[in-house]
Amino acid sequence: MSQMNRQPIAIISDRADPAAEVVNQDVGGQNVYVRNVGETLAKLGWQVDMFTRKVHPDDAKIVQHSPHCRTIRLSAGPEEFIPKNDLFAYMPQFLEAFLKFQSKEGTNYPLVHTNYWLSGWVGLQLQELRNIQLVHTYHSLGIVKYQAAGYQPPIGETRLAIEKQILEQANCVVATSPQEQEALRKLVSETGEIRVISGGTDISNFRLLSKTEARLKLGFNPTERIVLYVGRFDPSKGLETLLQAGANCQARSQGNFRLVIAGGEDPDLEGDREEERIRILAQELELTENILFTGRLAHDILPFYYAAADVCVVPSYYEPFGLVAIEAMACGTPVVASNVGGLKFTVIPEETGLLVPPHDIAGFAAAIDRVLTDDVWARKMRKQASLRVRQNFSWAWVAGQLSDLYRCLLAKSIMNEQLWHLHLPKSTNASHVEVSATES
Ligand code: UDP
Repeated sequence: MSQMNRQPIAIISDRADPAAEVVNQDVGGQNVYVRNVGETLAKLGWQVDMFTRKVHPDDAKIVQHSPHCRTIRLSAGPEEFIPKNDLFAYMPQFLEAFLKFQSKEGTNYPLVHTNYWLSGWVGLQLQELRNIQLVHTYHSLGIVKYQAAGYQPPIGETRLAIEKQILEQANCVVATSPQEQEALRKLVSETGEIRVISGGTDISNFRLLSKTEARLKLGFNPTERIVLYVGRFDPSKGLETLLQAGANCQARSQGNFRLVIAGGEDPDLEGDREEERIRILAQELELTENILFTGRLAHDILPFYYAAADVCVVPSYYEPFGLVAIEAMACGTPVVASNVGGLKFTVIPEETGLLVPPHDIAGFAAAIDRVLTDDVWARKMRKQASLRVRQNFSWAWVAGQLSDLYRCLLAKSIMNEQLWHLHLPKSTNASHVEVSATES
């Protein structure tokens, strides 16, 4: 694609601002994914506009990340944080603001990639109004999340219905792991196009670093056994399993043990003070002396935390992909993770870490101990883990796959247009197009 005639595409991520700093409380994997995918797609030649909801009056309306990639913050409802379970009511306003922006700029986006079900709803409306190719990434699947949590919020019914409609009507759904693809097929709908394209990580930032130097930089004890958690404080992340397992490991390690918890409160948990609950649990388990709460960390310092740790633990009850696991592995840190969702895809047991059933406290304690006490194996895993990420999970690879998908969909759409002008049946699927053309 030449500089002059770049193809514009819209990436919509209403509830996760790609321009937000990762140290912000409400930032998680979706923000990181959208930002990196958008920026890398621009490097590959696309003109990328990423749309999100404006959550603060002082935030810039437009953030230019690079010459061909920007975030556009649209006003939809009050310019303040709104918990995701209350956001659906503002989506018609978001759609209106999007259409207004598009006509003001005179840009037509022939392809729209939506993220999370709320944006997916916007995409479905756009599909009704215009000839667009709709691509969707779920980031979280209601049906799996509610099953894991054993609770469905009042918005749940609406979400499940829209998630089904998205799978059946989008031109392609992107599953970030084969496990997500399977869940979509089994639990959401038997129809609809799915393509597996994983999440990724910035392999120039998350890289092999010396453990000794990382500990020196962070002021950590050079000989202590360090177990790291990175992520939002959300009950589905399984922090209490880690604390209970950590208490077992600590008892066996004669004090030579530290649990480092990086992350912070998730503002979506209205009133549910998860951080407070975790701190109280740490006191009850007599872990206070051996635990360090760092607060949220930025991506420039995080690689040093991963490198300083002997093991990174991802004890989630539900994890569609799990960027933290690949960030840790990229830095050469073995991962002990729950045997759920995308973690079953990214972590290779015995080679890059270990998988344990979620909630299994004794299982986590044993797995953590194994990694902490077998230095030779841990060193081998260090190399294998970083190689696995460099080979399979760079943003360049991810965006390359998405780029191929977009090209293919746009080419099909042009073919459909041409067939339409010839008064042939219109199709959303290339194989149907071929049949229609031959039949005529
Ligand atoms: N993260 C961060 N600082 C923190 C905690 C988390 O930058 O203190 C980032 C982490 O590096 C990762 C993202 O937040 O890129 C979490 O993504 P993941 O897919 O693991 O979980 P999600 O938030 O999507 O549930």
